[in-house]
Formats: sequence, structure tokens, C-alpha cells
Amino acid sequence: MLIAAGTVVGASAIGWDLFSPGLSASAAGSYLRPCGDVRISSSWQGHKNRNPPSGEPGTDYAVVTGTQIRAAANGVIVDRKDSTTTATGRYLALRADDGNYIRYLHLQSSTVPLGARVARGQVIAYSGASGFGSDTGYGPHVHVSLWIGGTPLQLGFTNSVDFENYVEVDPYEPPAEDPVPTHQSTTFRWNALLPDDSWYRVPVTAQSFWLAESSASIKETGDLTIYLAATGVTKGFQIRVLAQSLDSSGAVVSTSPQPTVEVPATALTAANSLTYGEYSLPYFLSGPLRLHAQVRALNLGIRVQQVVFKKNFWQS
Ligand SMILES: [Zn+2]
Repeated sequence: MLIAAGTVVGASAIGWDLFSPGLSASAAGSYLRPCGDVRISSSWQGHKNRNPPSGEPGTDYAVVTGTQIRAAANGVIVDRKDSTTTATGRYLALRADDGNYIRYLHLQSSTVPLGARVARGQVIAYSGASGFGSDTGYGPHVHVSLWIGGTPLQLGFTNSVDFENYVEVDPYEPPAEDPVPTHQSTTFRWNALLPDDSWYRVPVTAQSFWLAESSASIKETGDLTIYLAATGVTKGFQIRVLAQSLDSSGAVVSTSPQPTVEVPATALTAANSLTYGEYSLPYFLSGPLRLHAQVRALNLGIRVQQVVFKKNFWQS
């Protein structure tokens, strides 16, 4: 059984960045994962095994851009970066009340200011793919790194520990069996002439645009790929997925574009030759959300002949 997060310090943020030897560092099993029970695309050990090893080993949780990130523990926001420069992109750092230090990297945006006191489970940021001076420096995920009893500057950035060893696991959950994904595949002869230079919604069947949907009660996890075959491509076209979050009446309250893939013209640009574009996205959807694809022509006269959509997914 887990132990509740350690000693609670007062609301004051004074001295937050100093080593606090009096605070307990034994929070094992109490931290909240940032986005619930989602796929881990790269483990802490996986980061260490890289060549060269990661400069800040952590856990990568695969979620679509714009997913809510929740604080792992009660604590204070002690660092915040809002630019995409450097490998980290935008990040937040949380000094937990137990004295440990947690960083959330590659954010789309942060929702709490520097110095804010936050509660375990509070939404503190939205996930992204930021890093290396770009909003699309990485595939969409959130990277979480953890240091015990000090800051990364004190302990060394490479001396993080495996956050997954410190997360809360429901003791009443039966042993998890690997979910068996459902495979879905559709082929749609679209035959649509694209308008020039504007995003255009891509149907996946004659009746539907939706790639994946979740609700208050049904979560969906999976990997999806869209293949477009087009003629008339002399410059190129772009593909992206848009995540829409909905209110209880089904109205769209916000949209989050996922990273864009650009498909350049091929050497064969005769009117009848086909150019193929492919877009893949691992995703986790929780709450009223849905995904659809968009295409943007970079030259006049592009006709998308066919849309093939495949996904492997499971719901929980
Ligand atoms: Zn990472």
C-alpha cells in the first residue's frame, strides 16, 4: 500500500530551490502519473541506454499535443521555461513537499506561474512536442524526470531516478493483462480537388471524418496512420491531425494541431503520377476529445484520389 506524500511545508515558497535535508525523501508509491495510465514510449532505463546516454534520463509518456498534465504531488513550481529553445523545449519544474524535484519537458504551454503552490492532481500544463527551437522538435509526448532530495543542479542532471518506481499503483487493480488492440482499416476513394493553401478536412469514409474519439467514460489508446495518394503535386502538400476537445453538449471548445508532416513533390510530376503521403501518430485520448486529419495543398491542382486509414487501438 502506498504512503501519503511526506511532510507538508507551509505555503511559503521561500528557499524552494535549496536542499532541504529535513524533508522526507521517501515518497515511493505516492506520485501521480502526468496523464493517467498511458503508453510509455521510452523508459528511464531506455533513456540511459541511448548512445550517447540521455543528459536527463526520464520517462516518456505518449500523448497527443494538448493533453492535460497533472502535478505528481503537492508542491511549488520552482522553474518554468516558455521558449522552445534547447532540447527541453518548454518545461515546468515542481519541487514536491517531500523534497524531491520533478521536471516536465516538451510542453505546449504551462498553466501555472513560477512560485505557484500546486496540489497533487492539479492541471499544471498541456503536453506538446517542443524542443530544439521548434514546436515539433519531438513526437508528441511528455518527458518526466525525477531527482531525490535535491535539484538537478545539486545532484547532476544525469543522476535522476526512475519516476515510474515512485508512482501510485492502485492496490486493488487486478494484475494487468496486455490489452489486445483492435485493428481498423478503411480505404476511401475521395477524388477531391484541394483548395490552394488552406487546411482542408480529410474524410476517412463517405460518412465520417473521425479518426478516434473518447468520452467522459471511454478512453482510447492507439497508433494511427493515414495514407494519402494525390495527383497534380508539383510543390507538395502537408498533413496534420487536429485534436478537438468538446464540452458536455458536444460543442468544440478548443483545438490542438498535432505536428505537421510535409510531403514534397516527387521527380515525376506529370498530372497522372501519384504522390504518396503518410502520417502516423501514437495517441491517448481521455475525456470528451476527438481527432480528425487535415491536408493543405502547397500548389494549385492537387487532387487527393484515395485515403487509407489504419489504426490499432483499445478502449478502457
Ligand atoms: Zn524523453
